[in-house]
Formats: sequence, structure tokens, C-alpha cells
Amino acid sequence: MANDYYGTLGVRRDASPDEVKKAYRRLARELHPDVNPDPETQEKFKEITQAYEVLSDPKKREMYDLGADPFAPGGGAGAGGFGGAGFPFSDIMDAFFGTATSRGPRTRTRARRGRNATLRVELDLSETAFGTTRELSIDTAVACTVCEATGCAPGTHPDTCETCHGRGEVQQVQRSFLGQVMTARPCPACGGFGSVIRNPCAECSGDGRVRTRRTVKVKIPAGVENGIHIQLAGEGEVGPGGGPPGDLFLEIVEKPHAIFEREGDDLHCTVEIPMTAAALGTGVVVETLDAAENIDIKPGTQSGQVITLYGRGVRHLNESGRGDLMIHVNVETPNKLDPEQEELLRRLAKLRGEERPPGKFAPGQRGMFSRIRDVFNQH
Ligand SMILES: [Zn+2]
Ligand SMILES: [Zn+2]
Repeated sequence: MANDYYGTLGVRRDASPDEVKKAYRRLARELHPDVNPDPETQEKFKEITQAYEVLSDPKKREMYDLGADPFAPGGGAGAGGFGGAGFPFSDIMDAFFGTATSRGPRTRTRARRGRNATLRVELDLSETAFGTTRELSIDTAVACTVCEATGCAPGTHPDTCETCHGRGEVQQVQRSFLGQVMTARPCPACGGFGSVIRNPCAECSGDGRVRTRRTVKVKIPAGVENGIHIQLAGEGEVGPGGGPPGDLFLEIVEKPHAIFEREGDDLHCTVEIPMTAAALGTGVVVETLDAAENIDIKPGTQSGQVITLYGRGVRHLNESGRGDLMIHVNVETPNKLDPEQEELLRRLAKLRGEERPPGKFAPGQRGMFSRIRDVFNQH
């Protein structure tokens, strides 16, 4: 027989599957190519892996015991069904060293997702209330057209890394109190890519992307408010190595309005009404976001009273309808009365039975303060 698999693994012919597994595990840790890269050890490692491949499979082991060696040159009798395509090397290693099974190559891909970007957008109240469309310029990274985002100078390709032989990681055996532990870390020579770009693209220095200024047309929905972030998927930076782009976030900054104060989707404003108009009733013209509106002020309106215009506020962001506009009435008390006006008001007070004792600031009171005021007023 060409190969003595039992001898290779150092187990008896009647060894249990578990003993076979243990023997291989012990040898594989010592002989793994990443631990001992010299050709002789690598050859030995191949041998023990080949032996394990046969002895760990009950069917193959049975055939081997009957004299058919699946790996013998020319193939053993009846052995054509397996072994011809080589052994599933990585699967075995995965099963032993706890790395994910049926995983592809361990290399990192050069392509990575691009970063997110945030852009501040200043908007007027009318724009946040009703929505708008903006063209925004952003400085961002786009795919390099010279190398088609590969990072390689045109006509060249990445070379397989000589340190990790394209695996992207190097393995080490460390002794610990648990015994020998196999650890893997990204290859320091290639950064875990498994390949090295020897001729980087001159345009992008091998990054696969270049910086540029780009214009995006953005629809800003009605009802956004200060501080809100709008996510535009895929409008951020393109990733290195042709990776997918990140997202663009628009941070809404709402500029203060001259008339309205916003509270959620409601708006507040104030109208000043002379006392006489508040008492007699009047009509005032109030600006709204839509158009100027005539508002009736009822006779006897008090300062601080609120008139609500329903549906004249900001459009709701996620539902139909709008907030309200609250008009706060501020009644102005007349001041700087001339003698005639003062007389009229006294008569009014008397007619309404609202006469009150005069305070010391009242006109006509010869208190110290008013005397001083008179002195000033004469000049
Ligand atoms: Zn390039
Ligand atoms: Zn490497």
C-alpha cells in the first residue's frame, strides 16, 4: 500500500473516530503551514490532512481498510468517486480551529462602505412649513474613473501577498494554560487584503476614489423642523476600492421668523390693539404663511386673549393637515395723555363707576415725583 494513514496519524488500526480526530488535531497544530512554513513541514501537513480526510470518513476508511487508497497514484480500485478533486482542506481547518465553517476566503475586501456625510441646510419657515426642493453642493468622494475604482494603475492588477499567500491573515500557535491555542490576525504586510497593489493608480493614489464637488437635488418634505436629520440613502461618500456609498444626512436649520414663533406645528404671533379698539371691537389684518387675513376683534377683548386660526400653521410631517396659528392679543394702554384725553378718561371712569383713588404718579397729584417730572417737562 502506498500510504500508511494510520501510521501517519500515529493511531492504531482500531482507533475510534474520536482518537483519529484528536491525533490529527494535535499534529495539525504543530505542522500547520502558518506555524512552520518550511517545505518539509508543509509536505508533512499535507500527508496528515490526507490521512485524516480518509480515516475520518467511515466510507472512505472502510474502503481504505479493504485496500483501496483514494489518494494512491492512479487511484485505488473503486476509488474514483472521491479524492480526485483534492481534499476540502479549508473545511477541515475550519472545523478544527473554530473559524466559521464553509466560509469563503479569509481576506478582507478592499471595497468598504463609504462614510456618511452631514450637511446643514438653512431654511425659512415657509420652506419648512410647506416643503421645498433644494440643489445642494457637496464635497464628497466619487469612484475614480481612471482605474474604475480598483486603485490599480490601468493595465495592472493587485499581486498576491507573499507574506500570507493571499490568505489575508497569519496564524500563530500560542501556548496557554489551556494548551496550544491557534490564533489568527490580519496579515500585517497586506493589511488583510491578501493582495498588494504595487502600481497604484496615479489619479487616486490607490484609494479607488477621488474627491469632487457634486450637486444633489433634494426634496425637503413639509413639516421638517429645526435639528431634524433627513437621511438620503447612498448619497454619501463612495467607499474605498469601489465600495458602496454611505448616506447623506441633511441637518435642518430653521431660520428665526420675524413674526411667527414656532411651537411644534403651531405658530404664535402677537397683535397690538389700542385699548379703545379692544373695548369697541375692530378688524385687524394679520399676516399668515398663506396670505394676509382680516381678523375680527370682538368688543371687550382682553389683553392676552388668544385668537386661533385653525389649520394656518405648519403642515404635519407624517400625517395630513396642519397646525394652528395662535394670535395673541396685546392691549396697549394709552399713555402721554393730554388734558382733554385725561378728562375724557376720567369721565368714562366715572360713568362706569370705576373711579379709583389717584396714585402718586397720577397727573394733577402734586407729589414730589410729579413735581420733579414737571420740572423736566418744562425744558
Ligand atoms: Zn484611480
Ligand atoms: Zn498578506
